[in-house]
Amino acid sequence: MITAAKLGLTYVPIDFRLTDHEVLSILQDCKPHIFVVGPAHLALVERIRDRAGSIQRWIALSQAPVPGYELYEDLIVRGEGGGLAYADDDGLFCILYTSGTTGRAKGVKISHRATLHNGLALAKAYAVDEHTRFLMSLPYSATGVVNHSSGPTLMMGGTVVFDEVRNFEAARFFSVIERNRVSHCQLVPTMMFRLLDSPDRTRFDLSSLRTVGYGSAPIPAHRVQQLTEAFGSVFVQAYGMTETCSLATTLNWQDHDVVGTPRQHILASCGRAVAEVEIRIIGDDGREVETGSVGEVAIRAPWNTSGYWANDQQTRELLRNGWLYTGDLGRMDEEEYLYIVDRKKDTVITGGSKVFSPEVEAAIASHPDVAEVAVIGLPDEQWGEHVHAVIVLRGGAVLTNEDIVAHAARSLSRYKLPKSVEFVTEIPKTSTGKYAKNVLRRLAVERPS
Ligand code: ATP
Ligand code: MG
Repeated sequence: MITAAKLGLTYVPIDFRLTDHEVLSILQDCKPHIFVVGPAHLALVERIRDRAGSIQRWIALSQAPVPGYELYEDLIVRGEGGGLAYADDDGLFCILYTSGTTGRAKGVKISHRATLHNGLALAKAYAVDEHTRFLMSLPYSATGVVNHSSGPTLMMGGTVVFDEVRNFEAARFFSVIERNRVSHCQLVPTMMFRLLDSPDRTRFDLSSLRTVGYGSAPIPAHRVQQLTEAFGSVFVQAYGMTETCSLATTLNWQDHDVVGTPRQHILASCGRAVAEVEIRIIGDDGREVETGSVGEVAIRAPWNTSGYWANDQQTRELLRNGWLYTGDLGRMDEEEYLYIVDRKKDTVITGGSKVFSPEVEAAIASHPDVAEVAVIGLPDEQWGEHVHAVIVLRGGAVLTNEDIVAHAARSLSRYKLPKSVEFVTEIPKTSTGKYAKNVLRRLAVERPS
């Protein structure tokens, strides 16, 4: 990342968990000239190499010779690349591909200016300084690593701790924190739930932890409450997207000692806009809605992307009149706390009424035997769409559809209740740990009834 910036090259990180087809589709989209690969991923590269026509130089991060590749170490010894390049503020620092939650991953253009500006804002929000030891626990290709953690940490002179991210395992994670005296890390909801459920946490010394950032998908507030009881007030939620360098709002649990007070509801929000960020909630008529009403979240920030790589159509939909339209639905209260209620594309419209999937998920997830739940809309002849819940139960638990519906009915109105329930052993997820709802919808529709 830093080398590319210093040489004036544009960096495009690729998630090694993608399939051959997905990696190729990124290469065909951004047409890179140089490909750098670590030894663990040579096999994948060999499978697609013939079809990656734009690449002129193949470089291996290896000590031992690899036929057909230049060695990174040799280039460093030879001082190849010459001196430092002058980085134009508006020049491209990197292209980051989105998580691909709603469809094909999009290449987001991030400038040097956006990276630096966002890095400083993040360092403030997460209290990052030269003593910080920030553990990278998400895919290195995600905005959560490039802009949200490693970038700000290096800018402030802190230390980046790399971990094996292939299989997230609570005990290993705790041991890495203990061994490296990690002060900062960041998690996505599925990781948080695993940490919470792990009996191992008391075996490790986690006292070095100061800030645990979390976000990337909705998280029921009661779960974060449980995490705070287990780990202390170290949690800071961030809301944002690849297109906003990952940052727009934060909610710092340390500043919000509101449990048991009338302001407890703010723990269900994703906080308030950080300095220099403006947020508006826009209705279907294109105007700002009244305080408290739901609409599309639009963001104006100095670190917003200038658009998608080679995709003017999607850029025009994203950026309108100086605002970035997120595709997320939310509402803002009188104190300007933002509540994300759903993605536009995931909202279920049943019998003409909107049902926000995270609300139904939170109601079902509060059942002690439910480990994970994703709610989607399925086509329905009578209702247009109906609410469908895909559920993973905790080991050994047995529940029926009726049990789930009865539990959800304690907190939800009738029209929001699932009309169908499916028990599975695993819910498919994106590389950043979000429920892959487009995959779930496709599987459910393709399944013979
Ligand atoms: P794609 O754009 O390819 O469909 P994606 O939107 O999941 O994938 P990212 O840029 O990684 O790709 O994720 C940004 C999205 O994640 C936001 O638009 C929002 O829907 C969700 N998100 C991020 N942070 C939060 C949060 N704190 N609470 C709820 N949702 C969040
Ligand atoms: Mg997106």
